[in-house]
Amino acid sequence: MGVKAIGLLSGGLDSTLAVKLMKDQGIDVLAVNFNTGFCLSDNAQKIRKTPGEIYRHDALKAGEKLGVPVEMVDIYDQYWDVLTKPKHGYGANMNPCLDCRAKMLSLAKGMLESRSARFVFTGEVLGQRPMSQHRSALRLVEKDAALDGLLLRPLSAKLLEPTLPEREGWVDREKLLDIAGRGRKVQMRIARELGVTDYPSPAGGCCSLVDKVFAARLGDLFEHREGGNAERLEREEIFLLKTGRHFRISPGAKVIVARDEGECRFLHFHRRLGIRLEAEGVSGPVALLLGKVTDEEVQIAAALTASYGKGRGLETIRVAVRKGSEESFIDVSPMSRESALAMAITA
Ligand code: SF4
Repeated sequence: MGVKAIGLLSGGLDSTLAVKLMKDQGIDVLAVNFNTGFCLSDNAQKIRKTPGEIYRHDALKAGEKLGVPVEMVDIYDQYWDVLTKPKHGYGANMNPCLDCRAKMLSLAKGMLESRSARFVFTGEVLGQRPMSQHRSALRLVEKDAALDGLLLRPLSAKLLEPTLPEREGWVDREKLLDIAGRGRKVQMRIARELGVTDYPSPAGGCCSLVDKVFAARLGDLFEHREGGNAERLEREEIFLLKTGRHFRISPGAKVIVARDEGECRFLHFHRRLGIRLEAEGVSGPVALLLGKVTDEEVQIAAALTASYGKGRGLETIRVAVRKGSEESFIDVSPMSRESALAMAITA
C-alpha cells in the first residue's frame, strides 16, 4: 500500500495539477473539496444551468478525470466566525483568506488519521495571491493549522523548505516544481505536458468574497439587517447576493432584478422569500422585493422593474405583484436609469 495524502482540490488549474503531480509519484491521493458557501462558479453554474441539466462541481469533474476519489465537505455552518471575525483580517474585499486557508488546512489535518493519510498538499503557488500566498503567509497558515512539516505545496516545493514527505522520501523533491508568481503560463504548459487539458479558466476566480460587488452587497446586508453580521445568513440569502442587480430602495427594503433568463428562473424559484414583480404585456425581467415593505416601496420596486424591461420607453406599464397566492396589478411609469442607478448597491 502506497503513501496516502489528502489534497485540497477546487477543480481549478493549480490544485488539479498538484493532484496530478502527486498521483504521478505514486501517492495514493484522497482529494477533498471544502465548500464555504461562497464559491462563485458553483452558484453561477446553478443559476445558468437549463432545466433538467445536472450540475457537477468542478472538483468532482477533475477528480473523475484524474482517477482520484473526492470528498466534498460542506463547511458553511462553521465558516461564519472565519468570515465575520478573521484573526488575520481581510484582503482587498470581504475575503478572510489567511483564516480561510488555515481553517481548511486544520480540517484536512483532522482528517489525516481517520483516512490513514500521512500528509496534506495543496495547489498553492508562492507569490500568486497577495494576501495568502506570500512566503510568510504560507508559513503562517501552516502553523495556524498545526501542520508543521506536513503541508506540501508541490507547485512551489523547490522554493520552500523541504517538508517531512520530502525528507522521508515519500515524495521525490526533484520531481516537484519551482513555480512562483501570479502568471499561469508555466502551469498551463506543464498541464499540457502531463495531459491535463480540461479545467476551468484560470482567470475565472472561485470565491465571491474576493469580488468587490459581492462584498458591497454583503456589507449592505449586514448594515441593514437586524443584528448585523452576528447571525449566520441562510444559504438562500447568499445565493441571492450572487444573483441579479441589487437596489437598496429604503433601509428596510431591497430589490433584486434578474439580468437574464437563468436569473429570472432563479428568482422565480426563490419567490417565497419576498414579493415577485414582473411587467405585463412586454418582455422584461423578474424582480424580487425583499424586506418588510410599504405600499410606496412596492410602487418604487415596480417602477424599477419596469425600467429594465422592453417597455422602459413607454409612459405607463402594468406590473404584476405576486406574494404567495395573492396577486395584484399596478400601473407605473418606468423609473429613469439615473434614478435606478442612484439606488444600486455597487462597490
Ligand atoms: S479566495 Fe475565498 S476560498 Fe480562497 S482563501 Fe480567500 S476566502 Fe478562502
